[in-house]
Amino acid sequence: MTLDAKSSSQGAEGEDSVLRHSADRSYRAMLMGLIVGALAGGVMNALWGGSAALMWFVEGITEPLGHLFLRLIFMIVVPLLLSALSLGVLGLGDLRAVGRVGVRTLLVTVVISTLAVLIGILLVNTIRPGEGMAEAMRANLRGTAQEGRLSVAAAETAPGLGALFRILPDNPVRAAAQGDMLAVMFFALVFGIGLTLAPPERIQTLTAFLEGLYEVTMAIVALAMRIAPYGVACLLFSLTARFGFGVLRNLAAFVLVVLLGLALHHFVTYSILLRFAAGIPPLRFFRAASPVLLTAFSTSSSNATLPLTLRLAQERLGIPRDVGNFVLTLGSTANQNGTALFEGVTVLFLAQFFGVPLTWSQQLLVVVMAVLAGIGTAGVPGGSLPMIVPVLVAVGLPAEGIGIILGVDRFLDMCRTVLNVSGDLTAAAVVAAWDGRLRFPALGPEDGEHSQAVGAVPPD
Ligand code: ASP
Repeated sequence: MTLDAKSSSQGAEGEDSVLRHSADRSYRAMLMGLIVGALAGGVMNALWGGSAALMWFVEGITEPLGHLFLRLIFMIVVPLLLSALSLGVLGLGDLRAVGRVGVRTLLVTVVISTLAVLIGILLVNTIRPGEGMAEAMRANLRGTAQEGRLSVAAAETAPGLGALFRILPDNPVRAAAQGDMLAVMFFALVFGIGLTLAPPERIQTLTAFLEGLYEVTMAIVALAMRIAPYGVACLLFSLTARFGFGVLRNLAAFVLVVLLGLALHHFVTYSILLRFAAGIPPLRFFRAASPVLLTAFSTSSSNATLPLTLRLAQERLGIPRDVGNFVLTLGSTANQNGTALFEGVTVLFLAQFFGVPLTWSQQLLVVVMAVLAGIGTAGVPGGSLPMIVPVLVAVGLPAEGIGIILGVDRFLDMCRTVLNVSGDLTAAAVVAAWDGRLRFPALGPEDGEHSQAVGAVPPD
């Protein structure tokens, strides 16, 4: 996204309470959808599990209804990938103009996003939240999920370098039509590079078009989120009606793994960075940032939180205005650590759930794609959902799999948004410190605040 596109989607401060209110409502509705759907399905399974009538109801009514909602998300994946990633590269292209701060921001973004995904992937491989279901059930699940799946062209393998070059589409339209998401992503990146190289005055209309396309896809995501509680109820009903309450154990384990990963990244990675790269005490930093983190939690939106983040960074964290404006605005869309971690965990969890073993090279692909998806994800509620689809498809998993985690997504969205925003603040503090311009208050405001410049150790 270009900075302009992002700032246009920022919520004004006056909208904060409205946003928070509607976020609360949608969270409650989603939770209700989850509980009602799962309970009703589980009870049906206990009473009539496996009966022809129940299977007819699931296959003929609740599953198609649930998929209707999913398809609303799937249909925007290609235009979203194209607009978000190409505009993202165009935004990063501006880095040349901002020089040192830009390069350091990019460096911090890529490093901490990668660490986030690695933490998540390590946890899923250790705790294995998706396992433990009987093989017969799993085969059944795989079968149903495959019925309506998107094409999995990307899962086919080619020997040697051929596998690598296959992500270069010779025809992007065909790649999109075949659901070869990796190739579409690659095309979007190359297209973005083209945008940065073309004469700016000649591509204004095209850029405006891409920004418009991006806004439309976001509006459709918002629409999907409004009907999501019903979709979630149908999907959870279908799941527990088929397999009983047992599957909820996996779902609970998934939630715990995501929360553990987010906590580790927040309290270990960010803390180490703050302490050693920025030279400030992490706990005091997080305490000072708490109003922003609470806003991120309640709105589930980095973009809606941005006005508050900008002000607090300057007034309470001592981050200079120019560094804050740049790093935080760019970060509210591009530096999405919580989202990247969540995407990595989700894809591996679903692979375990469907019993599809992923090789190390496929897991590496998940890391790269999750980092890219984190960069391309919009800072809005549910922004990462459409971005998980290409990663799933690229490793040969049914895109419908996201239906399984949707019921718990709203809560995880709130939590990962906190990480997205605290990651932006951490990155801004580190970049400011490397510039020798971070003036974090040495004492808390209650102790009589004074500032000190800290951590002037830039890596060149
Ligand atoms: N809600 C997240 C944010 O605004 C994006 C996501 O992961 O869905 O940062």
